[in-house]
Amino acid sequence: MNKPVSKVREAKLELYRKQGKIHARAVDGRFNRLRWALVWLTQIVFYGACWLSWESNGSSRQAILFDIAHEKLYLFGLVLWPQDALLLALVLILAATGLFLVTALAGRLFCGFLCPQTVYTAIFTWIEAKVEGDHLARLKLDRSPWGASKLLRKSFKHALWAIIALWTAIAFVGYFTPIRELLPSLLALQTGPWEAFWLIFYASFTYVQAGLAREAVCQHMCPYSRFQGVMFDPTTANVAYDRRRGEPRRTRGQGAGGDCIDCGICVEVCPTGIDIRDGLQYQCINCGLCIDACDQVMGRIGAPRGLIRFASEHELAGAPAPQGLGGRPRVAVYGALLLVFSALGVGYLAERSLLLVDVLRDRGALSRETAEGRIENAYTLKLMNLDDAPRQYRVAVSGLPGLEIVGSEQFTVAAATIRPVSLTVSAPGGVLPSGIRPIVFEVVAAHDPATRVREPSSFALP
Ligand code: SF4
Ligand code: SF4
Repeated sequence: MNKPVSKVREAKLELYRKQGKIHARAVDGRFNRLRWALVWLTQIVFYGACWLSWESNGSSRQAILFDIAHEKLYLFGLVLWPQDALLLALVLILAATGLFLVTALAGRLFCGFLCPQTVYTAIFTWIEAKVEGDHLARLKLDRSPWGASKLLRKSFKHALWAIIALWTAIAFVGYFTPIRELLPSLLALQTGPWEAFWLIFYASFTYVQAGLAREAVCQHMCPYSRFQGVMFDPTTANVAYDRRRGEPRRTRGQGAGGDCIDCGICVEVCPTGIDIRDGLQYQCINCGLCIDACDQVMGRIGAPRGLIRFASEHELAGAPAPQGLGGRPRVAVYGALLLVFSALGVGYLAERSLLLVDVLRDRGALSRETAEGRIENAYTLKLMNLDDAPRQYRVAVSGLPGLEIVGSEQFTVAAATIRPVSLTVSAPGGVLPSGIRPIVFEVVAAHDPATRVREPSSFALP
């Protein structure tokens, strides 16, 4: 006796859930096309940006470089120093707040379209499909006994995965070691120990995460999937099944019922192997592939699209949409935080001084008296030129009558470097009472008098 249709369907779907690796069925549609557009965009940026050069002071350097050895971050014409950690912290806070805002508006959009895990899994799965065939061929191959053909196909797939993983690691390390130096050193097998470690680590990481672990990362490892729920509210649009429209499901031969014909294709295309008809689940990455699949099914049966769609709890319950931001407190709070942190970032950049000065008094000899009877103190000034061009600075000192600098007062500092300069300051002797007196050094940039730093110090009088 034949099994009831729904039992056959359930048994088929179990193939996608319980056979170890999930082999999702390919589907075309607007969300799949958007996903691939973003795969291309992110990968062109990631693999390409490390090759961009930036002309600075007649020489060329890598446009984006995290120069850890010299504690600098080059971003085109901007050079950031450890002193700019606040700006980096603001950028991270902005990124997190932006993610919260997007999540409150439309659920896990980042996961479905921009997360590196999703992007690389899509690339690795595409390679797998090209080598091993469609989802059914892959399921069959996985269950078939090992032989020459299976070994060949699997080896070829893993070799391609390894090449992509290695190239990804080279691009990644190329943001920390100039890629035009890294590649020749790699080809000559003369890579430094740190570069070699990170190349092996990142290549292995990409290979394991995107090739072997895949959806398990979203299901079991990613912490974001666990706490995303706290950012949702009833107005958050998530990929959802319209139960009121779909139920009761129609099975083959049944004319009456809801719009869902229980074909199970929405489950077969799901990269995390879930059934969206069971409601919102933490494994759902909002990729929209089940929407593409179901829209095609609806087209075939002559029903309107959107049985599965981006919809909020409110909308699915038929409740009126909340008016204004008052009805969406989370969106209002995240939006306000985003504006505040953006303003802080812009304000920081606008106020950021491209000159920093440190004054160290020579502790070895507090003071000395010259043949002319003047008192001299020695200092070391650390002039930090944070700019991407060489700059000339004039140093002045004030705070005591007759105070002057002995020798040169002008110093040139190369682009994005720190120059320590030794300086002698002299004051008339026998005029001022003995003791430690406060003085002030003022350093002014020759090209822009607004770039100036006043740094307090002290002068010892015997
Ligand atoms: S693809 Fe649409 S019609 Fe088919 S099972 Fe899923 S929800 Fe039902
Ligand atoms: S349920 Fe739909 S949106 Fe969620 S992960 Fe699966 S295919 Fe993507």
